[in-house]
Amino acid sequence: MQQDLLIIFAAVWLAMAAASYMLFQRGTDVARKRKLWPTYNIASNVVIGAVIVYVQPPLPMMLGLLAFMVPLTWLTIRSTKFCDGCGNPSRSPFFMKPPEKCSHCQKKL
Ligand SMILES: [Zn+2]
Repeated sequence: MQQDLLIIFAAVWLAMAAASYMLFQRGTDVARKRKLWPTYNIASNVVIGAVIVYVQPPLPMMLGLLAFMVPLTWLTIRSTKFCDGCGNPSRSPFFMKPPEKCSHCQKKL
């Protein structure tokens, strides 16, 4: 039973990685990418959070990890911009300022 759940988590994770590639790396619908990006990030962190709760680490560690994920999710959402010119995502490391120009076509973001 426990292993089944972990397999389900792994399958969900893989499906979300595939969806991320299809939604954000491909295609040129920038408006849709911008709209879906926060939702996608929050959903994937909810999955990670569910795994953390499921494996039941010691309570302080669990709360610490979950509390850490909230600002990390927000910063990840903020540090990714989608280019109007080519539709590609430009990311900066989550602890840095958001990118100011497209890493693909150099257009200002
Ligand atoms: Zn671009």
